[in-house]
Amino acid sequence: MSEFQNNVTKADAYLDRFKSNVTGHFINGEFTSGSGSETFENVTPIDNSSLGRVVKGTSADVDAACESAQNAFPEWRDMPGAERKKLLNHFADKIVERAEEIALVESVDCGQAIRFMKQAAVRGAANFRYFADKAPEAQNGLALHQEEHTNYTLRSPIGPVGIITPWNTPFMLSTWKIAPALAAGCTVVHKPAELTPLSAMLLAEIAQSAGIPDGVWNTVNGFGEVAGKRLTEHPAIKAVALVGEGATGSHIMRQGADTLKRVHFELGGKNPVIVFDDADFDRALDAVVFMIYSLNGQRCTSSSRLLIQSGIRDKFIAALEARVKNLKVGHSLDPSTEVGPLVHTNHFEKVVSYFDIAREDGAHTAVGGVRREDLGPGNYVAPTLFTQANSSMRIAQEEIFGPVLTAISFDTEAEAIQIANDTDYGLSGYIWTENTGRAMRMARHVEAGMLWVNSENNRNLPSPFGGVKMSGIGRDGGDYSFDFYMETKNVCVAHGTHRVPVLGR
Ligand code: NAD
Repeated sequence: MSEFQNNVTKADAYLDRFKSNVTGHFINGEFTSGSGSETFENVTPIDNSSLGRVVKGTSADVDAACESAQNAFPEWRDMPGAERKKLLNHFADKIVERAEEIALVESVDCGQAIRFMKQAAVRGAANFRYFADKAPEAQNGLALHQEEHTNYTLRSPIGPVGIITPWNTPFMLSTWKIAPALAAGCTVVHKPAELTPLSAMLLAEIAQSAGIPDGVWNTVNGFGEVAGKRLTEHPAIKAVALVGEGATGSHIMRQGADTLKRVHFELGGKNPVIVFDDADFDRALDAVVFMIYSLNGQRCTSSSRLLIQSGIRDKFIAALEARVKNLKVGHSLDPSTEVGPLVHTNHFEKVVSYFDIAREDGAHTAVGGVRREDLGPGNYVAPTLFTQANSSMRIAQEEIFGPVLTAISFDTEAEAIQIANDTDYGLSGYIWTENTGRAMRMARHVEAGMLWVNSENNRNLPSPFGGVKMSGIGRDGGDYSFDFYMETKNVCVAHGTHRVPVLGR
């Protein structure tokens, strides 16, 4: 049996229970179908067939999850960090035990190619181990000295938190958000994306089997407008972490206003990769291709704008065209697939709509720009490269979130900075040059939360992750995550020597 066939057979076996049972929620340590009777169909982008039905979470379901998170909070908060560390490391071990299942289920549910999803469990487990190890020191603060007083700070978990995740790499992103919250001592209500609910249920099962106490981890499935909305309004929830679109962030700010929610938003991007004439040509080419066509281009940090200096433009674009034409589009479980089907027909139609928009705006479609109907009834598009574009075109301004690259040429460093910053977004950027001084000048002036020099996106868990402008609010990673999930308390202790002001004596 080929590896592809083997993947299909195994995935079918893992998915069977989701197809034959309605997927519900995980509240207070129990799997439940909640209070409502409505369900929705979950489909695979591979061929748009059903993966089973999922319960549409109601406000009452969210209330039950929030109450359970609230009740579980004091005990989880007061558990010694060393104990939480042990539990979270145990959780990571359980993820690794189910790595194959996670990869196959995730690949079928969201359409990401199995070659990338094989890493999902490993990265998810690494997220848990990293924050598990930090749990014992999470409450540590600073000592700040004055002449007659000593201040010290300590941190305590903010309370139950809401975590709302998107569909592009749901498993990895869920672990990335939930691990620091639990390590900090917060309890969690997770609302996964309605388009990709399955790996969140695997996580809930792992939470149960790893012995995470009841109520510490709750998952409510359903739609943003109902379940997500109620979660952001619930008074027990002290903070909301969203990974999603900018418009959703605006909704959540409004919805959370009455209860003064602390928010952390990781939103969209239109990230530039800036390639100068003196760049290492081959390495830059590899990175440019990887950072837009891997993960179906459905990646917040994808470099969807290529800014190419005029001296190497023709040679670089020619080499790029050859590589893009050569990308292998196909079934997400085929190990040779590089670009899989896009997550949902609505998103697929959105991506396809940019093929006409680009033509109408006067860009040249150098590669792709078509559906791949020859691959069957799934959401397949040809990897696409637009050239001769300029910064005012919609394909240079809007987040397409698919395997679609817009190339714009520039002459000078100043022009590169101007084009790079000419969008509402500011998540990440990539700079390719052998000139260190230029790299540092660019890094200072490009408006982004994260910049990589002569590299594709390389994740370092202690480093801050997040965006500026419309790409987000706040930073994840290392201690930055604890800043969000914890409150800092200052304690000021007098040495007994200062003069206390006297009134009415
Ligand atoms: P989305 O904003 O439509 O949905 C994200 C989540 O928000 C879903 O769970 C959804 O149900 C929920 N939601 C929707 N409306 C809500 C509301 N009114 N109240 C509460 N919750 C609500 O995003 P998506 O389409 O699932 O994901 C794609 C987007 O995510 C892209 O813009 C992408 O760039 C972004 N993203 C950003 C990062 C990052 O780290 N910056 C990472 C991955 C994805």
